[in-house]
Amino acid sequence: MDDRDSLTLPRIGAHRVRESWQERFAETPDVLKSSEHQQTIVSVLDLRIGGDEFVTMAGPCSVETEQQLLSTAHHVRRGGATILRGGAFKPRSSPYAFQGHGEQGLKMLAQAREETGLAIVTEVMSEDDVPLVAEYADILQIGSRSMENFTLLEAAARSGRPILLKRGMMATVADLLRSAQVILDNGNPYVMLCERGIRTFDNALRNTFDVGAIALLKHISHLPVIADPSHAAGHRELVPSLARIGVAAGADGLIVEVHPSPEKAWSDGEQSLDFADFDEMMAMLEPYFALRGTAPGMRSMEAVG
Ligand code: PEP
Ligand code: MN
Repeated sequence: MDDRDSLTLPRIGAHRVRESWQERFAETPDVLKSSEHQQTIVSVLDLRIGGDEFVTMAGPCSVETEQQLLSTAHHVRRGGATILRGGAFKPRSSPYAFQGHGEQGLKMLAQAREETGLAIVTEVMSEDDVPLVAEYADILQIGSRSMENFTLLEAAARSGRPILLKRGMMATVADLLRSAQVILDNGNPYVMLCERGIRTFDNALRNTFDVGAIALLKHISHLPVIADPSHAAGHRELVPSLARIGVAAGADGLIVEVHPSPEKAWSDGEQSLDFADFDEMMAMLEPYFALRGTAPGMRSMEAVG
């Protein structure tokens, strides 16, 4: 008998790889792709996140003034964004830093939606605030610092609003998926996973943008994946490159900080794009959007006129 006949060859190829990821993330079965469930589509106003259409969420780190928010909203909409971001409840490193305008900020966001047709994504930090934030927001953002606040995740899930779940800065991919599973377990299938950079030994940038995680999440999970180049880079001049890398890695959308005068921003000015920077970033992304076969935001812009 030929020696080679007695060898057991390893099973290689896509099927085997898929099986091993299933085993690796077996604790969170409902977030993984299956033959029946390849992709979740999250519907927000007239958008279908996770489908062919790429979504750009853009706006200031914090809602500061009506003028700041509305001018940014109008600008990013003209530039192709379909969702306005802006924090009314802000998790800050210092207790003395601006903590956000709370309900007043939510009202300004609602006014911006009224004027522009943009959907609203904004952070909720406490389970007590979930009903209030859910009344104004189209998408509830769970921040990096809250990713493992399971009481908050449960309350946010039960609101029924779609959830943008940001990866904790010290969280593994498995940790992120575990938090997503908690939301699904609480009856809300509309979860978007957000890579916003993690802490590593290298502190040259604010965080290390884990694009491998974007590729992995797209490979194993049916949930839409959103890339946040702003909090990963920490410096505005690097945001457009990280945005391009995020799109190339397969992200379904971007969330980007934009401010009319970043040097005067009340939070995260260093990483905020000004209006011209935003336009330039979007123009440089065009070939990447074209590869996906759709331009961002066209439907929503037509709807608003
Ligand atoms: C933000 O989006 O402004 C924010 C605070 O993000 P993160 O939770 O990722 O730090
Ligand atoms: Mn920020």
